[in-house]
Amino acid sequence: MFKRLFNELTLVFELSPQESPLLIKSGRESGADPTLLDMNFVRTAHPDTGEMTVFLPGSSLKGTLRSYCEKIARTVRPEGDQVWCCDPFSPGFCGKRLEGNLSAAARYASSCVACRTFGHTGLGSHLAISDAYPNDTPRLEQRDGVAVDRITGAVAAGPFNLEVVTQGTFQATLRLRNFQLWQVGLLAVALREMGQGRVPIGFGKSKGFGRVSVNYKELEIAYPGRFALQANGHNFGVELVDLVAFDFPGRDEYHLIPADPLSLPLPEEGREVVDDGAFGRVATHWTDAATIEAVLNATVGHWRACALGEWPPSGEANDE
Ligand SMILES: [Zn+2]
Repeated sequence: MFKRLFNELTLVFELSPQESPLLIKSGRESGADPTLLDMNFVRTAHPDTGEMTVFLPGSSLKGTLRSYCEKIARTVRPEGDQVWCCDPFSPGFCGKRLEGNLSAAARYASSCVACRTFGHTGLGSHLAISDAYPNDTPRLEQRDGVAVDRITGAVAAGPFNLEVVTQGTFQATLRLRNFQLWQVGLLAVALREMGQGRVPIGFGKSKGFGRVSVNYKELEIAYPGRFALQANGHNFGVELVDLVAFDFPGRDEYHLIPADPLSLPLPEEGREVVDDGAFGRVATHWTDAATIEAVLNATVGHWRACALGEWPPSGEANDE
């Protein structure tokens, strides 16, 4: 689906433990290796130095953001069904519901708000998050943990040695392609909540582990394939344009969510516009955290309109 690229948002941000130990478990059991703890932080080779380092896998970050976005969607529309926001662990999950010989447009049209952003087994994701590597040397500590029997409250197993990060800064890049403004708004809400410590990541959420701060570093809004700043009544150098504003074949079959307005003005402050006329790419770029936050927050109204709006039309739920 969406073989063409219309709009693209790239957000670089840093995550740091917020007075809370952080542990993304590696799949490795300590087994017979006495040098390993019972639960170790996941490690890989740093792409710049080649040295082994702890890191935050992009898949973990994406999974955490997805679950939190689902939680927000279910909270704002408690009566919403699986077409509004599906439960990936239920048989009504979009990936299951939309199996079979459907066109890409039909699959998208019947997918819920979470799957439209994060994808499902039959629908590519519009959002990608890179692995987050440390900018400095993270502080690693050992903690003891136990497994508690849920019924009796007694210690069922343990203690385990846990390897946690207590200080450090990890840099991640989030890329959203062919997006609607409501999707940016929903992510803005989730990232804000994450930065306020309300969306823990990794192991031990019930113990208070995994609370992080979020620090925006760079934002780029780009329109690939544009040889001019202006087209279709939009100025790509100064506007954040919703996917629904672009014309493409069969667009109506995708049942995009109405956007009003179709675009938002981008702040002038600190703005760098790159109009690469030769290669066809218009991009605007900011590095000031407050301005980046303002751009993201401006889209929350579109998410609100989506949440309180008429999509999906009732009666469409069980067409299949
Ligand atoms: Zn879904």
